[in-house]
Amino acid sequence: MTSQINPPPRLLMGPGPVDADPRVLRAMAAPLVGQFDPFMTDTMTETMGLWREVWRTANEQTFLVDGTSRAGIEAALVSLLEPGDDVVVPSFGRFGQLLAEISERAGARVHLVEAEWGTVVDPDRVAEVVGQVRPRVVAVVHGDTSTTMAQPLEALGQIARDHDALLYVDATATLGGNVFETDAWGIDVATAGLQKCLGGPSGSAPVTLSERAAARIRSRRHVEAGIRADDDAGAAGRRIASNYLDLAQIMDYWGPRRLNHHTEATSMLYAARECARLIGAEGVGARAARHARHGAAMVAGLRGLGLETFGDDRFRMNNVVAVRIPDRLRADPGGGDAVRAALLEDFGIEIGTSFGPLHGQVWRVGVMGTGARRDAVLATLAGLEHVLRRAGAVVPAGGGVDAALAAYDTPADAVSAGLEGDR
Ligand SMILES: *Cc1c(COP(=O)(O)O)cnc(C)c1O
Repeated sequence: MTSQINPPPRLLMGPGPVDADPRVLRAMAAPLVGQFDPFMTDTMTETMGLWREVWRTANEQTFLVDGTSRAGIEAALVSLLEPGDDVVVPSFGRFGQLLAEISERAGARVHLVEAEWGTVVDPDRVAEVVGQVRPRVVAVVHGDTSTTMAQPLEALGQIARDHDALLYVDATATLGGNVFETDAWGIDVATAGLQKCLGGPSGSAPVTLSERAAARIRSRRHVEAGIRADDDAGAAGRRIASNYLDLAQIMDYWGPRRLNHHTEATSMLYAARECARLIGAEGVGARAARHARHGAAMVAGLRGLGLETFGDDRFRMNNVVAVRIPDRLRADPGGGDAVRAALLEDFGIEIGTSFGPLHGQVWRVGVMGTGARRDAVLATLAGLEHVLRRAGAVVPAGGGVDAALAAYDTPADAVSAGLEGDR
């Protein structure tokens, strides 16, 4: 007979997914209730409140889209953009390209403002293009895990507002592990997924919408208002092309009217509630500081192994770092993958490969969620040292663990000063 599922023990230290907090997994095993059970509706309301804290927002419209992070991204873009709209996409990695692709599929005209991978986009260039194009939406990724860079967002909210555009941010890779200020930065719509710094499994997409964005989306609610889409295309905007990802309907479903839309993914609701509860208990600021501390120790440790980090230190995300695969291993096309495979097989530790122009060039190492802890960082560095040496690379004995330990002994402000000095 087929046996019960029994995954091997792993330490997930890649760019995501990461190990879910055991408390989140336990919450997912809680019994199910019906769709309109008062317990369910109360839990939904409570969950909205918990996520407002994580997002650092007062937005009434703060809820979950059922699906992975991409469902949140697509719901935001397809609900904000209609065919013929202009959208400006500052892009510095693969996920910026994804925002462009989804916008294009929604029928929008995409204006890319690109930066070389390993850097971020100059806000002055964004301001210039937004001034010329006067788009409906500016859509940007906060931390692009493909390059491990985080775009500073402080200036973009004002740029969007100055030109009457809405600012959308994909915060999947940064929320819960880096400072993220929805309201203070003037962000209109932001979306995420649980499987990075938020410490849950993939499958639920937290979303938050400003009143301005919600009003824009409500104006497209033709079915509810009894207006046939094609009769009235001009007045309030065309009907949202997706039913499942129609944020107008999803707002009504989470709102006081509880209009039925889809069947809530109850176990994922429990997971998302527990993720937000744990973040609130730790403190949003303390959690970002924890990710910064363990992320800095990992960077120091990887350099201590003689590996060269990729990208501009000024813009590095707290929670993921890319390192160049040593020349000697890169000479063999499968060299980098063989080292990752050995780390998984011999140590049970997973690190990440990379995409596009970086494929075969760098590995990506994540330090996030429950993985942002000392023993996980040190075990990863120790394991990597051994597999690198066995693959023929020259690595200083104990160099990774020693450098990480030294970083842990350095006060936090000296760590960031050191990173500044390195660039
Ligand atoms: C990991 C990641 C995603 C993932 O999307 P999924 O649908 O959950 O696979 C999206 N955006 C960014 C910036 C990411 O880093």
